Amino acid sequence: MGDKPDLIPGIYNYCDRWCERCAYTSRCLQFQIESEETRSGDTLGDFDALNARFWDEMGEALVQAMRLIREMAAQQGIDPEDLDKETALSELQESFHRNAREHPCATAALVYSGMVNEWFAAADEFSEAEESLLTNHPLSLDEHLQVIRHYQYFIYPKLVRAVEGRMNESAIVDNEQQNDANGTAKVALITIDRSLAAWSVLYAEYPAHEDKTLSILVHLDRLRRSIEVVFPAARPFIRPGFDV
Ligand code: SF4
Repeated sequence: MGDKPDLIPGIYNYCDRWCERCAYTSRCLQFQIESEETRSGDTLGDFDALNARFWDEMGEALVQAMRLIREMAAQQGIDPEDLDKETALSELQESFHRNAREHPCATAALVYSGMVNEWFAAADEFSEAEESLLTNHPLSLDEHLQVIRHYQYFIYPKLVRAVEGRMNESAIVDNEQQNDANGTAKVALITIDRSLAAWSVLYAEYPAHEDKTLSILVHLDRLRRSIEVVFPAARPFIRPGFDV
């Protein structure tokens, strides 16, 4: 670290481990140790700037996604706000005393992984035009499919780790914003946000499957809000490099 002052200590502790899409490769020791490529700092900087732009665009897609969820859910008689926070909190806190894998947030993340597989398995039923979109999709659509696939199995282990962290921490540490459980829960929240944005794009691209896509959007939105109830200090957690 001494001869590389630009490196950000510990940035790799709360990232999504998607180095090909990371905007901080030039400042990450983990990447530079693991990377077999010997790209210069300038080249890595260009690469990081491209990735930063990609995630900025995804941020805009998330705003649209949230609007879409509200509108479409209302049309179909689903109340996306039907999360009784007090009940959810007591159920969720009670489950802290059991195995972290049984925590409602963790099981909901596992259910989500299955929903993604079901959605893609239904590709057999797609119309010819839609199928051709899946196999010959334009680059932007391909990127959203990559986002969904990259995070599909990432959310569950992160939530198990966050819950385990909470179970092992003392009550005093629980209330601290900068603890590992909050940081890990924040990473899970960010990957859910990005997945929501990607699904909102697929919703528009596959109208014949909008019911399935909407179910996924509502499920992820509920999971996101449940995590925010259980880990209220997760969003304000400051990740080294990403949030400062
Ligand atoms: S911070 Fe970025 S480059 Fe470093 S390990 Fe995480 S995703 Fe990869």
